[in-house]
This record gives sequence, structure tokens and C-alpha cells, in this order.
Amino acid sequence: MSKPLVVITGASSGIGAVSAKLFAARGYPLLLLARRIERLTALSLPDTLCEQVDVCDRPALMAAIAVAEERYGPVDCMINCAGVMLLGLAEEQNPEEWQQMLEVNVLGVLNGIHAVLPGMKARQQGTIINISSIAGRKTFPKHAVYCSTKFAVHALTENIREEVAPFNVRMITIAPGAVETELLSHTTSPGIKADYEAWKAAMGPVLAPETIAEAIFWAYEQPAAVCVREIVLAATRQAP
Ligand code: NDP
Repeated sequence: MSKPLVVITGASSGIGAVSAKLFAARGYPLLLLARRIERLTALSLPDTLCEQVDVCDRPALMAAIAVAEERYGPVDCMINCAGVMLLGLAEEQNPEEWQQMLEVNVLGVLNGIHAVLPGMKARQQGTIINISSIAGRKTFPKHAVYCSTKFAVHALTENIREEVAPFNVRMITIAPGAVETELLSHTTSPGIKADYEAWKAAMGPVLAPETIAEAIFWAYEQPAAVCVREIVLAATRQAP
């Protein structure tokens, strides 16, 4: 039997891109979303639609999912991976960076949930996996707004999980520690970036995105009657 549709936001790099490769290798049809469409198509994955979508654009997100569902059937797994980390001291940081993080990391995730939840509830089947962070469980220096967005991802995922549990829909939070991706590159303060790189170097290799993709896949492939509510994983040498 053919496998159901999996949607991944933020699939153009890092955890999302590696997850796309893993799900494709296991035979799932995919809808991949990000702003850098050329990075999505360059993955050259089978049974895959790639759409240039900003997760803050709810109508565009919903339209892309409708097109993919037309081709591959209903979304069975929605992986909300798109995110930005713009570290900064609260009193120094440009509030536009706060706004971008809140819009992408919180409203973008809510947009992804909104697009698929009614169908999953109606079918009494489906899984939504939100990529939060250990920064969604505890604070870190110069992370005030990033942590705010990830605390929000933890809270909304668990709250909605309680709402949809009676409908047999699973809500899963994945909370990684530091992972080797492009995430830090968008922080604008050179000093903060250098400090973060030094922190990563001090703990030895941080997690590879493949490790997170395997955790996502493992949680999804549990029997439908089992909901892995949260996975928290980090490099062993990551202390905080
Ligand atoms: P990357 O920077 O490599 O990937 C981020 C992805 O998000 C890219 O595909 C990017 O695509 C996409 N994205 C950003 N903004 C938007 C937008 N407005 N609309 C659509 N897509 C967007 O970082 P990671 O792979 O590390 O990040 C993935 C998730 O993992 C994030 O939510 C991050 O917070 C989380 N995380 C990462 C950790 C780490 O240490 N790396 C640790 C804990 C959590 P494009 O720019 O093409 O739109």
C-alpha cells in the first residue's frame, strides 16, 4: 500500500532537509516548503512537491497543502520545522528581529497546525510534529525572544494535544539542544555568534541533524495508539 503524505516546513536546510531525505528514503510522498525553492528542488527527492512558501503566509501555505493533497491524498504527518534564531540582548536587539522570530517560530507553527488539524480531526488520524528546542524548556543568555518563541511552541503543542487527544490526533514536541545547521548564521551580532561558536566547540561535536531526523521518524512511526509527547535530546557534553 502506498504511504501517506508528509509535509515539512523549513525543508531547505538543516533538520528539515535531512528529515525530507529520510522520509523520502522510507517511501513517503512529500510536500516540502521554504522560501529558498532552489534548495528544495536541489534535493531531487522522489514523489515530492516543492513549493516556495513563507510559513507566515497562511493562504499560500494552505494552497500548497491543498495541491499536494489533491495529488497524494490527505496529510498524515505535518512537521513544523521552519524557524529562525536571532540571538540578542533584549535592550540592544532590533525589535524587528523579535517580530520575525515571533512570526516564523510561533505564528508559522500555528499556521501549519491550522492547515491540517481540521482534516486530521475529521479522519481521526494524523500527527503534527513541532520542532521546539531545549530553549523551549529553559532560558539561555541572550536568548530572551528566541526562548519566548520556543516556550510558546512547547505550550501550544501540549495544549492542543490535550484538545485533540479524543480525536486520535497526535501532537509531538521535539526539543533538541545544539545541532550543526545554518541556524546561528542569521544572528546579526558578530560577538554573540562568536560566543555561541565557542560554546559549541567547548562541548565537542554537537548533534548532527540526522540524529534529530531519526528521532522525528521514530516518534512518527510508533503505532497510531502511541503518542510520544516530547523528545528532548542534546549532545552528552551539552551541560545547560
Ligand atoms: P536552518 O537554519 O538550517 O533551517 C531553518 C529552516 O527554516 C530553513 O529551511 C529555512 O528556509 C526555514 N525558514 C526560515 N524562515 C522561514 C519562513 N519565513 N518561511 C518558511 N521557511 C522558513 O536551521 P535548523 O535546521 O537548525 O532549524 C530547524 C528548526 O530546529 C528550527 O525551528 C530551530 O529553531 C530548531 N532547532 C534548531 C537547533 C539547532 O541548534 N540547530 C536546536 C533546537 C531547535 P528558507 O530560509 O529557505 O525559507
